[in-house]
Amino acid sequence: MNKNSSNTMALAPNTSNKRETVCIFGTGDFGRALGHKMIQSGYPVVYGSRSTQISNLIPKDAEVLGHAEAAQKAAIIIIAIQRQHYDFLIPLAEVLRGKVLVDISNNLKLNQYPESNAEHLAQLLPGSKVVKAFNTVSAWALQSGTLDASRQVFVCGDDVEAKQMVMNIVRALGLTPLDKGSLLAAQEIENYPLQLFPMWKFPIFLSLGLTAFFFFYCVALDIIYTYIYENNDFSFFIAITIPNRVCPVMALILLALVYLPGIFAAIIQLYRGTKYRRFPDWLDKWMLCRKQLGLIALAFASLHVVFTLVTPMRAFASWRTGKGIISQVLNNKTEPLDHTNAWLSDSYLALGILGFFLFVLLGITSLPSVSNNVNWREFRFVQSKLGYLALILCTAHTLVYGGKWFLSPSAYKWYLPNIYILSLIVPCAVLVVKFVLIFPCVDKPLTQIRQGWERNPKYSK
Ligand code: NAP
Repeated sequence: MNKNSSNTMALAPNTSNKRETVCIFGTGDFGRALGHKMIQSGYPVVYGSRSTQISNLIPKDAEVLGHAEAAQKAAIIIIAIQRQHYDFLIPLAEVLRGKVLVDISNNLKLNQYPESNAEHLAQLLPGSKVVKAFNTVSAWALQSGTLDASRQVFVCGDDVEAKQMVMNIVRALGLTPLDKGSLLAAQEIENYPLQLFPMWKFPIFLSLGLTAFFFFYCVALDIIYTYIYENNDFSFFIAITIPNRVCPVMALILLALVYLPGIFAAIIQLYRGTKYRRFPDWLDKWMLCRKQLGLIALAFASLHVVFTLVTPMRAFASWRTGKGIISQVLNNKTEPLDHTNAWLSDSYLALGILGFFLFVLLGITSLPSVSNNVNWREFRFVQSKLGYLALILCTAHTLVYGGKWFLSPSAYKWYLPNIYILSLIVPCAVLVVKFVLIFPCVDKPLTQIRQGWERNPKYSK
């Protein structure tokens, strides 16, 4: 086939119902899985391979030819071969001229090469039209049909028509193409499968660090201190009592940390008098992982609820109740109901229940299936207004629980405050500054800045 005919084939629209032949270079795991899926979707498949011997593994209706011969049979060639072998394509440059080459390759490390594999392929074969696609789909998912989690296929390339042809194939395979723009996006697309929950890293490490700190803080004050100074062995507190102290503390602090970056952002915008200047990187990253921080906070709050519900089943709780009853019997005196205490305990429980209810509501509305069904104003109302209300209720829950007891000297062991006091620092700071920010004299300029007004236009440059 001559040069012109292959060009015509590459750009000719498919007018008949019959699908055009697709060529796949490489009969490895991915080449076979993709070929199998294509044959199922009605595409004739021809493999270009170093060996033309048909093995049992190759899809039954596919043809296997040498690379040059196979390339001549199709306008689109999928390169299912690792990047380090791309040099073998250079002698095929003339056969591949004008053809659409689909680079599906991944690397072993993030930013392994200075340029993306797709850009490298385009540099090796400047006469071909390189499109990046399919690299985020695994051979196993293609073969087993378990594509529910990864139905999206990122596609990028410099030639619009070539990209469109590849996107049509993606759709025909029952997948969803997502146009990521020019070939410059290939590096990002190649890095994508190598990332491990990028948005969760900071929230998880922060939660692990804080949990470990508060856990050992409680062990020191509730177990070691009591053992040394009161000669009581409360080591069994490790199982339920201490986790039930650490979980609410973590839930409250992490919920406050969801709203703290918004406070910093408001202060920075007020100080600069413009919204047209980038926030520092650390603040941008923090803002991007607020949802993850909130979901981890919700997990801690749920654990706190479960630990609290099992409290009456504990041997320690029965022993303490029994001890109270026996001491009343021995003294032949019934303790009158302390109304202040009854009010405090009911109020703190009610505040906790309402706070947890709003917490769950925030978690539910952050699910994509729910957030996609509410408009921006509704989403902001739940996440911002109800979110702050949840923070107020949970902070009040902790304050009412502590009450006057926080101020009593016995709450300070080794001169250290109780962890509930520590847990209130960040939420109280967030609520106090937020209270200042809603004063009209502060809120008005902030709203104007967020609508585009600038106090000092030089900052926008
Ligand atoms: P593989 O099983 O090792 O297959 C690679 C194929 O490349 C071989 O079967 C061979 O085909 C061909 N090949 C090997 N050395 C060659 C050389 N020196 N010259 C020419 N051809 C050579 O690898 P794979 O898992 O299919 O992966 C292929 C590409 O797909 C890689 O770039 C990978 O990053 C990408 N990918 C794979 C997956 C996956 O789940 N496996 C997912 C996304 C992307 P012949 O023997 O027929 O010549």
